[in-house]
Amino acid sequence: MNEDYYDLLGVSRDATKDEIKKAYQKKARALHPDINPDPEAQEKLKAISHAYETLSNPEKRRMYDMGGGSGMGGFPGGGGFDFADIFDMFAGATGMRGHGQGPQPRRRRGGDILRRVAIELRDVVFGAEKEITYRTSVLCETCQGSCCAPGTSTRTCSACQGSGHVQRVAQSLLGQVMTMAPCPTCEGHGDVIEQPCTACQGHGRVTQDQTVTVRIPSGVEHGTRIQLRGQGEMGEAGGPAGDLFVELSVAEHDIFTREGDDLVAHLTVPMTAAALGTTVPLETFDGEQQVQIDPGAQTGDEVKLRGLGVTPLRRERRGDLRVKLAVLTPTGLTEEERELLEQFARLRGDETTRGRRQGPFAKLRDAFRDL
Ligand SMILES: [Zn+2]
Ligand SMILES: [Zn+2]
Repeated sequence: MNEDYYDLLGVSRDATKDEIKKAYQKKARALHPDINPDPEAQEKLKAISHAYETLSNPEKRRMYDMGGGSGMGGFPGGGGFDFADIFDMFAGATGMRGHGQGPQPRRRRGGDILRRVAIELRDVVFGAEKEITYRTSVLCETCQGSCCAPGTSTRTCSACQGSGHVQRVAQSLLGQVMTMAPCPTCEGHGDVIEQPCTACQGHGRVTQDQTVTVRIPSGVEHGTRIQLRGQGEMGEAGGPAGDLFVELSVAEHDIFTREGDDLVAHLTVPMTAAALGTTVPLETFDGEQQVQIDPGAQTGDEVKLRGLGVTPLRRERRGDLRVKLAVLTPTGLTEEERELLEQFARLRGDETTRGRRQGPFAKLRDAFRDL
């Protein structure tokens, strides 16, 4: 048992008082008889307690450091050692409530509720109002949250005189110790419901369906959560209600996708229409619009319909609706179509790329040469 005190606690020789205390508490907790019933662990606990007793006292620590030994008197008769720390720890380790805590109130805040609500892209563009119905706890009308049958009330618990906890005598390696435990008669509340309200079985709240209207602002995102304060579960015994969280799930739209504040649609244009230009009707959230395709349109070009996009959150100006073009090359040509296209190609002088001074790859080749 003559092991070095610093080694026992696993701290350095210049450890602060706080470090020593923390190291001791950590080790003592692991060696607590409720956690570690091994008799060896209890011997070890005695040893580290002795080390802590010495090192936590500046005077004793100084003498220990000078003498380098452990001759500071026996354990546990040394005197002056404050066991309060150990009892605090033991209370923590076994889940018992400490001294000085009042009774546990019945009244508690209700839980929060999370509901997922599906909305359309149109709701994101303009905002919307949705009515949602959900199951929740509401105040018991019969007892108004008192938990007691009408005309009755709670009475002070006689087992604990209203304190909510009782003293228990427990055996420990240090002999009999007094510990505090929640009063089993009143479950720690300090009072007893003599006649529970039959409508709510003495909880002060009942379960039922509730309907609320949720205002969904424009510009919300998929996964946005809207918090409705006090619309969650009513608390027990008339405690305040929790919150309702509405999580929005934006359904995919057949034609439009959202990019920031813009809406984007993809339009495939036949090669001839792209070359000649045309107008294509498009049903938007603002009614039918004409998409103007200029002659010579290319794949990747965008036609912008200003102000037909999403209204951003907390702003007025709407984004745009962008139509992205893809030019469709004709396939499965008939004999006649082929002849016409060949004739067209001859007129353009681009029936072949061979022999031309500036082929289609010229720019790319030049670009590489510059590297
Ligand atoms: Zn009730
Ligand atoms: Zn009690």
